[in-house]
Amino acid sequence: MYKNIPKVDKVMEWPEVRELLATHPRQVVVDAIRLTLESLRTATARGETVPGSFESSAVIRSILVELERGKGAALRRVINGTGVIIHTNLGRAPLPEAVLDAVRDSSSGYCNLEFDLEKGVRGSRTGRVEELLRRIIVGAESAIVVNNNAAAVLLALSALARSREVVVSRGELVEIGGSFRIPDVMTQSGAVLKEVGTTNRTHPRDYRSVVTPETALLLKVHTSNFRVVGFTAEVSVSELAVIGRENGIPVMVDAGSGNLVDLAFLGVQGEPTIGEYLASGADVVTFSGDKLLGGPQAGIIVGKKVHLDAMKTHPLYRALRVDKMTLAALDGILRLYADERQAMRTIPVLGMLTMGAEELASRARRLVGRMRRALPTTVSLRTIAGLSQVGGGSLPDFGLPTTLVSVSIQGITPQQLDQRLRTGSQPVVGRISQGEFLLDVRTIRDDETPTIVEVLKAIAESVQVNDVA
Ligand SMILES: *Cc1c(COP(=O)(O)O)cnc(C)c1O
Repeated sequence: MYKNIPKVDKVMEWPEVRELLATHPRQVVVDAIRLTLESLRTATARGETVPGSFESSAVIRSILVELERGKGAALRRVINGTGVIIHTNLGRAPLPEAVLDAVRDSSSGYCNLEFDLEKGVRGSRTGRVEELLRRIIVGAESAIVVNNNAAAVLLALSALARSREVVVSRGELVEIGGSFRIPDVMTQSGAVLKEVGTTNRTHPRDYRSVVTPETALLLKVHTSNFRVVGFTAEVSVSELAVIGRENGIPVMVDAGSGNLVDLAFLGVQGEPTIGEYLASGADVVTFSGDKLLGGPQAGIIVGKKVHLDAMKTHPLYRALRVDKMTLAALDGILRLYADERQAMRTIPVLGMLTMGAEELASRARRLVGRMRRALPTTVSLRTIAGLSQVGGGSLPDFGLPTTLVSVSIQGITPQQLDQRLRTGSQPVVGRISQGEFLLDVRTIRDDETPTIVEVLKAIAESVQVNDVA
C-alpha cells in the first residue's frame, strides 16, 4: 500500500540515516533514499511487495545497497560466456596485456602526443600510427585515424561529397546497431544519396545510368550484419573501380569490420582483406579498430593520398580525432600485425576466432572438472556441441563450432541462474537456449575459470540455505 511508504523527510530523521550523513554528502544520501522509495512505489504498483517491505530495517538495507551501487565504477569487468567474440554490448575487442602496458606507460605521465622529440618542436599526433598502417596495409598511400568507423564514414563523405551525389546500391543501405544508418550519415555529411538497383540485385549498368558531373563518389557498403541469399547480384569493387575510372569518380568502400589477415583458412568465403579492397581498385576504405582488427575503438581510413589530404584539412577532422590512450592502444595492436603469426598468437580476438575444436573441448573439460570438484551435488553439468558467433556485424552467417557447458542448479530456473550470474559482484554473462543455461568456453579466459566456479558455488550454496530455512 502506497500509504505505507515513508516520506523522504521522515526517512532523513531515522537515526541510522542520520549516521550516514557523517560519512556521505547529504545530497548523495537524499538521492539514495529517493531511488529506494521510488523502487518501493514501483514494486507496490506491480503487487511485488512482500511482508516486511515497508519496515524501516528493509528500507535502510535498500538505501545502503543504493549507496554502494553509486560508489561502484561505471564500467566493470564482465566474464563473457556468450561465445560472441566481438560483443558490442560487452565492449567489443579485449586488448592484450602488453598493449595495455603501453597505454598505461604513455598515459600515466606526459607523452610525446604532439611533440617531435628529435627537433623539439610540435609534432604530428597520428603520424606514427599512420606510417604503421601504410606499412602493414599494402596499397595504402595514406591513412587517417578517427574516433570510430561511423566518424570515418562521416568525415570521408563530408570531405569528398558535400552537396554532391553519392551512388549506393539499395541492397547496401544498411543500419548498424540502431544508430548508424547509411542514409542518415549521408544526410549529416551534406552528401546527396543516389540509390541504385534493388534490394536483392544491382548491376554495373545501374551505376552507369546515374553517373553525371554531379556524382562525387561511388560507395560500396559492407552489409555486415545480414546476408541476402537466393536471387541476388551485386557489383564488385573491381567492377565499380572500372566504372569509376571511366568517369573520373573515386570509389569508396565502408568495409565495416575490416580484417587485415586473410580468413580463408577458417572457411570464411568472400571476405576481402583491407589490402585486397585497395588492390581491387578502391580509392578509399574505412573500417573499425575494435572489430576483427582486435584493437581499441577507432575508425581507420586508408587509400589515395589526394582524397585523404582533403579529409585531414576538413574542420570535422579535429572534432573526430582520437585521444592518446586510443592511439597508444592502436599503435600497440598494429605493431603486433607487423608479424602475422605473432598477431594470431597475441591478439585476443584472433586467438578466439582461430581456437581449434580440440582446445575448446579440453577447455570445457577443464572447466567442468573444476566445477565438479568444488560445487555441491545440486549443480548439474554437461558439455554439448554448439556454435560461437563472431559478432560485431562481422561474418553474420558464419558459426564457429564450439563446446558449451550447460549448468543447472536445483531449486532455481535457468532464468534465475542467468539473472543472478549477471547481477553478482563479478558479473558472468551466458545465454539460455532451449531451456538450458549455457557457457561458451571460447570467450572465457582460462584465468577466469576459478572466478566462475566461486560465483556458482556461492549461488548454489545460497539456494541450499534458503531451502533449509
Ligand atoms: C560496424 C560498422 C560501422 C560502424 O563502425 P563503428 O566503429 O562501430 O562506428 C559502419 N559501417 C559498417 C559496414 C559496419 O559494419
